[in-house]
Amino acid sequence: MTSPPVVAVDVGGTKIRAGSVIDGVVDHVREVPTPAAAGAHAILDTIAEVARGVIRDTDVSTPDGATPAWRVGIGSAGVIDPDTGTVVSATDSLAGWAGTALTAEITARLGAEARAVNDVHAHALGEASSGAASGTQSSLLVAAGTGIGGGFITDNRLLTGRHAAAGHIGHLPVAAAQGLPCPCGGQGHLEAIASGPAVLSAYQRTVGEQDPGGPQVPTTRELAELASSGDVPAQCALEQAGRALGSALGGVANVLSPEIIVIGGGLSGAGELWWAPLREAFDAELIPAVRGLSLRPAQLGQDAALIGAASLWSTVRESTDETIVTSSEEP
Ligand SMILES: [Zn+2]
Repeated sequence: MTSPPVVAVDVGGTKIRAGSVIDGVVDHVREVPTPAAAGAHAILDTIAEVARGVIRDTDVSTPDGATPAWRVGIGSAGVIDPDTGTVVSATDSLAGWAGTALTAEITARLGAEARAVNDVHAHALGEASSGAASGTQSSLLVAAGTGIGGGFITDNRLLTGRHAAAGHIGHLPVAAAQGLPCPCGGQGHLEAIASGPAVLSAYQRTVGEQDPGGPQVPTTRELAELASSGDVPAQCALEQAGRALGSALGGVANVLSPEIIVIGGGLSGAGELWWAPLREAFDAELIPAVRGLSLRPAQLGQDAALIGAASLWSTVRESTDETIVTSSEEP
């Protein structure tokens, strides 16, 4: 064992998933619903209970009978300050989560040291340590699903920024989303046209106009199936979303110049009807200096966030904004 045994926890709006991570290998995974409406204490108690179960299931004793100390690594929904381990802000999907002293509360419950980052940041760290971006010095992970989030790693460090909020790619203003409301309260942002719920809304707007009694498609997976079976409104909704995301990512690539861009999240499983316009729009935006930069699908699936959260205790570490100077802080 080259790093301490870590119980890694992925805290999302609908489920909490945890597992042991030893030398980068995920095992003893447990998954429970998030008591999202019950408040921060109920969520913290559930995290601790699931983590205890993972620790109970995992034998880490060495041949000489010693038991190394467990560490806890958490990737959580919301803006998480990795230096203080607190939840800076969170959406209403996790009631009372904002302001929670996440790592301190978990250490108090488990008696083990804890570190935490945002869940998409954990996903980025995971893909960088042993997934699609392993072996690179700089990578951008984009998670396109219910929302659109990102995590940028440069010189093997995660960029979190002055407010721990770096990576909110979903809130880039894009022309195609002009006038559309965004879940953040603003409008015209990428998420308003390219997230999973936005794709479904676009589809329903089109079929509703054509036929008020037309088919209702409740999930992006079903919409993707409909699109591949030749349904034109479903194809248009996916294409529009892929194109908007690709164009925005081309712009981001021009700003950050990463070695690789990795795309995960539910929409990345939507097939070529989404990927092809995404790649085409992406390539069209690139300046000559970054041309040839590749977009690759994420490799680790749900385990990425667990591997990334565990990596907070090993080589790839979180950092503050020390590698990029923010102009607003300059005299
Ligand atoms: Zn927004």
